[in-house]
Amino acid sequence: MPVEHRVDVLLIGGGVASVRCARTLRRRKFAGSILIVGDEAVLPYNRPPLSKELLRGDVGLELIAAEPASWYERQRVDLLTDAPVASLDPDARLATMGDGSTIRFSQCLLATGAEPRRLTIPGAEHALTLRTFADAEAIRRAAASGRRAVVVGGGFIGVEVAASLAALGVEVTVHELAPALWGGVLGTTLSAWAVGVLNESGITVRLGEAVSSLDDVRADLMVTGVGVTPRVALAEAAGLAVDDGVVADAGRRTSAPGIFAAGDVARVDGRRVEHWHAAREGGEAAALAMLGELLPEPRAPWVYSEFAGHLLDVVGWAPTFDDELPLLGGHVVAYLVGRRVEQLAIIDSAVSVDAARTLVAGSPSPADVERLAS
Ligand SMILES: Cc1cc2nc3c(=O)[nH]c(=O)nc-3n(C[C@H](O)[C@H](O)[C@H](O)COP(=O)(O)OP(=O)(O)OC[C@H]3O[C@@H](n4cnc5c(N)ncnc54)[C@H](O)[C@@H]3O)c2cc1C
Repeated sequence: MPVEHRVDVLLIGGGVASVRCARTLRRRKFAGSILIVGDEAVLPYNRPPLSKELLRGDVGLELIAAEPASWYERQRVDLLTDAPVASLDPDARLATMGDGSTIRFSQCLLATGAEPRRLTIPGAEHALTLRTFADAEAIRRAAASGRRAVVVGGGFIGVEVAASLAALGVEVTVHELAPALWGGVLGTTLSAWAVGVLNESGITVRLGEAVSSLDDVRADLMVTGVGVTPRVALAEAAGLAVDDGVVADAGRRTSAPGIFAAGDVARVDGRRVEHWHAAREGGEAAALAMLGELLPEPRAPWVYSEFAGHLLDVVGWAPTFDDELPLLGGHVVAYLVGRRVEQLAIIDSAVSVDAARTLVAGSPSPADVERLAS
């Protein structure tokens, strides 16, 4: 006879969005039961170090945990690992697990994240991707016995992996299809700076070239980083509105009452931001909405990256822009839509990220940005 559990709040997905939701609920004195279910075998952890400190071997799994093991007990947050949710019935407020057991809930957060897009070119099946701790371990193992690596995709993950592999003494070539790194979405000014940085670390960067086959590539290790797709299968099968992500409002409410969505899987007010701060803030916003509390003012998106000893912060939102302007001695790049700045790239903390986030939300002028330094 399959077991039936009952919880007040069910958080599906053991990532930062779920953990931050649980943490906010407890901070707001929510006394009901909370259960996080995740399909990975380990405690929830932060993914950003996977391509950085963890890949370089500077830290281990325990140092990247979203919360220490004792936190779950202290906060009375139950956790099921290795536990995939197989289906969700929003009307009955019931989740069915892979083993047939069921979980009845009052409110539920869908935070199933995203998964790496796979290339379909010949030989792509021999390439590794990076999303999980297990993926990072596989890349580290291959790097330990390999001398040459090819990274396909010069986006955030590709650039970071290339830099970390180079730091491990591997000879790396990065292939990016667009004429600039990050698929061109951060323009040519920032890309030119980053190519210089990567070259200085001994990395070869080939831009504007399509890789049509990986069969004849002479490398001991191939990694592809060509974007992610949101893990919407559960939501789709449950009949929730899905449109390049689970459709949600600012309170992360989906089309089904009592069901919320946050993090990489969610498309919030028309935007899907696949980054750590968005997942953290999304989990927190969902908790407040679950409790019927006021939401904080939405903030400008914030993405960060770290490679070859440099820190990069991108704040604001300009998926397309009219112009890019180096400011503050080239340590900041402003992305203009018309004459207003909608996005800023900040190199090595040249200005305060917090101040830049506030400023860019008001579509400032380039002169306003220059004043940030003082
Ligand atoms: C290598 C790497 C480096 C990154 N670096 C940066 C960075 O420098 N800066 C930045 O801003 N962002 C970075 N990111 C992005 C950031 O980590 C993500 O935006 C963030 O992890 C999203 O959190 P999430 O909780 O939405 O989803 P995830 O962290 O993906 O967690 C979702 C979890 O749900 C599980 N799951 C899925 N389906 C089910 C199911 N049916 N049942 C149970 N569990 C399920 C998944 O296995 C996963 O464990 C990086 C990501 C990666 C992979």
